[in-house]
Amino acid sequence: MEKIIDGKAIAARLREAIAADVAQLKAFGTTPGLAVVLVGDDPASRVYVSMKEKACEQAGIYSDEHKLPAQTSEAQLLALIDELNRDPRIDGILVQLPLPAQIDEGKVLEAISPQKDVDGFHPYNVGRLVTGNPLFQPCTPYGVMKMLEATGVDLKGKEVVVVGRSNIVGKPVALMCLAEHATVTICHSRTRDLAAKVAAADVVIAAVGRPEMIKGAWIKEGAVVIDVGVNRVGDKKLVGDVEFEAAKARASAITPVPGGVGPMTITMLLYNTVESAKRRAAAKA
Ligand code: NDP
Repeated sequence: MEKIIDGKAIAARLREAIAADVAQLKAFGTTPGLAVVLVGDDPASRVYVSMKEKACEQAGIYSDEHKLPAQTSEAQLLALIDELNRDPRIDGILVQLPLPAQIDEGKVLEAISPQKDVDGFHPYNVGRLVTGNPLFQPCTPYGVMKMLEATGVDLKGKEVVVVGRSNIVGKPVALMCLAEHATVTICHSRTRDLAAKVAAADVVIAAVGRPEMIKGAWIKEGAVVIDVGVNRVGDKKLVGDVEFEAAKARASAITPVPGGVGPMTITMLLYNTVESAKRRAAAKA
């Protein structure tokens, strides 16, 4: 096993397979389509949206961009989603979060058709994940699972410690590990003695958003460490939630930041869009 888990390389291999699937779908008359909706002009959101558009283009996926002004009303956004739900060219709908304060995020996510919910945030898809019969799985945690798979980590019977319990990373990744038969512990800000919990883990998945808060000395010898955290320190430098060098000395495999989980998220968005298009093609056949 390579010690450094190379997210860029794993993502690149997956994207090649995705592009091949897209070519095949197109040859049989189905072009996968992703609608990306951005409300307002948050600079980070704009960067993410343009990265998603570029990734679609590279994979041969049709991307339908909707850039709406910051003062867009909830009703206007819901009307657009309704239109996209019914648009036969669209297999996936992504609404870039966060949304401006006048718009109820939950309402918007629930308005997206669960069959086009490539972010996997609709309660229907959350429910299917919980019950072990997923339709769309959220992109970042799904990317973590694909990385573990590509690294040859078998989770069966392993002690997995997830640090963080957000709806977009911590909770879904814990459910995905459970589905792979791991024994899962979820830690959060009220967890007592986090160091002891981490020290017992065969696999640590950190999704906190605090620079290097998980100390290298906590990591069990030979453990696998997946660092989802992206934290900007100083002007430019990005660091994860794990103290990388010290953790690397003890881990059998570890993801770097950047170049670890980061490149997987958009890849899984493309993957989900293509899966959706395959279902559309199968329904047509
Ligand atoms: P949230 O802020 O939604 O959740 C953070 C979690 O960490 C919460 O559950 C919180 O606990 C927990 N936490 C906070 N402080 C501590 C502490 N001292 N000890 C233990 N747990 C603590 O973050 P996200 O899940 O959205 O994101 C987590 C990180 O992952 C961020 O750095 C984010 O930038 C990154 N990220 C990276 C992505 C990518 O690579 N593509 C995609 C998405 C996120 P509590 O619930 O008790 O408050």
